[in-house]
Amino acid sequence: MKVGILGGGQLARMIALAGYPLGIRFIFLDPSVGACATTLGGHLHGDYHDENLLAELAERADAVTYEFENVPANVAGFLTSRTQVYPSPKALAVAQDRLVEKEFLNNLGIPTAPYATVDSLNDLQAAMEKVGYPAILKTRTQGYDGKGQSVLKSAADLKLAWEKLEGLAAIVEGFVNFNREISIVAVRSVSGELAFYPLSENVHKGGILRVSESRKNDSQQAKAEEYATRLMIELDYVGVLALELFEVNGELVANEFAPRVHNSGHWTIEGAETSQFENHLRAILDLPLGSTVAVGHVAMVNFIGGKPESEDVLKIPNAHLHLYAKAPRKGRKVAHATIRTMTLAELEPLKKRLIALADEIDDS
Ligand code: AMP
Repeated sequence: MKVGILGGGQLARMIALAGYPLGIRFIFLDPSVGACATTLGGHLHGDYHDENLLAELAERADAVTYEFENVPANVAGFLTSRTQVYPSPKALAVAQDRLVEKEFLNNLGIPTAPYATVDSLNDLQAAMEKVGYPAILKTRTQGYDGKGQSVLKSAADLKLAWEKLEGLAAIVEGFVNFNREISIVAVRSVSGELAFYPLSENVHKGGILRVSESRKNDSQQAKAEEYATRLMIELDYVGVLALELFEVNGELVANEFAPRVHNSGHWTIEGAETSQFENHLRAILDLPLGSTVAVGHVAMVNFIGGKPESEDVLKIPNAHLHLYAKAPRKGRKVAHATIRTMTLAELEPLKKRLIALADEIDDS
C-alpha cells in the first residue's frame, strides 16, 4: 500500500512514521529539496501545479492526502480525476477561505464570532458598526499561525491595518473574549466510521500554538463532538479533522477547522491508544479505526524558532522528544515534546519544565 502526500513537512513526516509499522509506504510531492519528510519515502521534487508530477503521484499512490489546506482547487481536482483523494476537494475549498468557512459553520448551526467581509477601507469602516471593537482583521485565504492578522482596538487602527493587507480579500471578526481555547480532533473513515479524541486544551503565543493538553471527561466533549460530526457528515469527510473552538461563559464558538492532522493532536502519539496520524491513514485506506482513548494525562509543548539541547528535554522524566529535522527559523515549528503521566498532579511540574525550555528559546 502506498500513500501519496502533498507536502513533505513535519505533518507528512509524522504520518509516514505512523504508517511504517502497518507496512504502508510513502511518496511526497514538495518543492523544497530538503523537505523533512522526504527521507521517509519517494520525493517528487517540484511545483504543486506541475501536472506531470501530479499525474506521477496519482499513478504511484493508492490514495493521496495532504498536510496543508491551501492546496489549490485545480490541483485537488486534477488528482481526484485520477485517484482517491482524501479529504475531498470540497473540504479544502471550505477550509481555505475564512468567509466561506464561517458561512458554512453558521449554516450548520455552529456559532462563530460575528464577522463581515471586507474589500475596501470603506467596507471595513462600515463593518465595524456590525462587529464592534475590539476585532481582528484577517486575510480570507493563506493565513495560518496568526499570519496576515491585525487587532483593531479603535477607529484609529483601521487605515494602517487595511494598508497592511495590500489589497488581499479580508474578513473582520469580533474579538472573542474566551475563557479558554480547545480543539477536537475527529476522524471519519471511507466506510463512515467515526471516532473522537478527548478534547485538547490549547495555549497560543503570538498566534502560534505553544501548549496542548489532553482533557479527559471535559464538560465540553459532547458538544464539540456534535459540532465535529455535523461538519464531517455535511462534507462527507474522510480522514482526520480538527475543529478549533473558543469557550466563552460555558458556550462554544468555532474559530476554524483544519482538514488534516493537527498540531493540537500531536499529544496522541504517546497519549492515545492510536495516534491521529495512524488513524488518518486507517481512515483514508478504509481500515478499521483504532481506539482514541487517552493513555494517562498528556501535555505537548512546541519548540518554535529553535530547539533545546536534546539532553535537556530527555532528562525530564516521561518526556518524549520529536525533532522535525528542519533548519531553525523565526516562527518556524522545529520540534515538540510530550509528557505523559498517570496522574494530573505528576504532569504539572514536568510540563512547566518543558515550557521553561521553550521560553528560553524565545528569549535567546
Ligand atoms: P487563527 O489563525 O485564526 O487560528 O488564529 C490564531 C490564534 O489567534 C487563535 O488560536 C486565537 O488565540 C487568536 N484568535 C484568532 N481569532 C480570534 C478571535 N476572533 N478572537 C480572539 N482570539 C482570536
